[in-house]
This record gives sequence, structure tokens and C-alpha cells, in this order.
Amino acid sequence: MNFNDYIREVPDFPQKGVVFKDITPLLEDPVALKEAARALWQFAEGLGVDKVVGIESRGFFFALLLAERLGAGFVPARKPGKLPRPTRRQDYELEYGTDALEIHAESISPGDRVLVHDDVLATGGTARAICDLVEGLGGQVVQCNFLIELGFLKGRDKLRGFPLKALITY
Ligand code: IMP
Repeated sequence: MNFNDYIREVPDFPQKGVVFKDITPLLEDPVALKEAARALWQFAEGLGVDKVVGIESRGFFFALLLAERLGAGFVPARKPGKLPRPTRRQDYELEYGTDALEIHAESISPGDRVLVHDDVLATGGTARAICDLVEGLGGQVVQCNFLIELGFLKGRDKLRGFPLKALITY
């Protein structure tokens, strides 16, 4: 299946000059959704994943499907202030300014084999922050996987040392 056919490019969203990759057509199509979930699962099949961390908010969609199919638990990585129990926080650089993500401190146990999933790998700052959080809690990142890799932004360089898979590369 050609997954690119189900990604819509939206110019000047969320700001001028950015061409936003919209994954909702892929989510809306029952066959594309099933095939994409299967392909992402095949990337991680056999890795012995204990937890799948999904990154707020578009990372949640497939992370949960992956967790269920891998027989793993699902861990949401959320914007600050959303999780009710004690959290670990990681700040990271954006093009302009900084942002932060949190996960429940108890959600990763030492030795857990962790898959990190998000919809899009752009500059890599977001996924790297989550990898650092997971490893800070004693987990082992066994793969970072994405629906889309924007190769020209070189996010891969920030994730050097972490196994990386993407379904679609631009
Ligand atoms: P990074 O930290 O620069 O790699 O940005 C990745 C984050 O920005 C992910 O959580 C994505 O959801 C989001 N993102 C960046 N570009 C796009 C896009 O074109 N479409 C959808 N999400 C994007």
C-alpha cells in the first residue's frame, strides 16, 4: 500500500512557511488505518516490548493500537500539568523557545523494554526528550517508530544510538 496517498499536505499550517503533514485521511480510511497499524507493529514485532510510550497527542492514536497488538502496556507522554500522579519532566528546544513533556514516574520500571511512538519525526527534539525520560527512569528504548520522517530536518541525528523506523519518509 502506498501510505503517502493518505497524507494531506497543508501549506502554511500552523504558521506561514510550514507545510503540515496531516495524517487524518489515513486515520479515516479503514483499510489504510489497518495496514498502517500492521506495518508499524511489524517494525516492533519480536523486540519483547514491555511499554509503548505515545507522545501527545497525535502519537496516541497508533501507540495504543501498537501496545495492544504487542501485548505491551501504553504510557502517555503529556504536556505539563495533565497527569495526576508524580511525574518526570523533560524540557526540550523548539525552533523558537522551549517545550516540555511529562510521564508518570511509576509508568516505566527499571529494565522495561520501551517503544517510543509519534506521528511525525521532524527535528527530533520531541522524541529525544522522551527517550531521555525513559532512560532516566531505567527503561531501555528498543525502538523509536514514526508514521512519517521528515528526512530533510535530520531528526535522525538527534536520535543517534536509538533504533529508528518510519513508515513514510519525505
Ligand atoms: P520535532 O520535535 O521537531 O521532531 O517535532 C515533532 C513533533 O511535532 C511531533 O510531536 C509531531 O506531532 C509534530 N509535528 C511536526 N511537524 C508535523 C507535521 O507536519 N504534521 C504533524 N505533526 C508535526
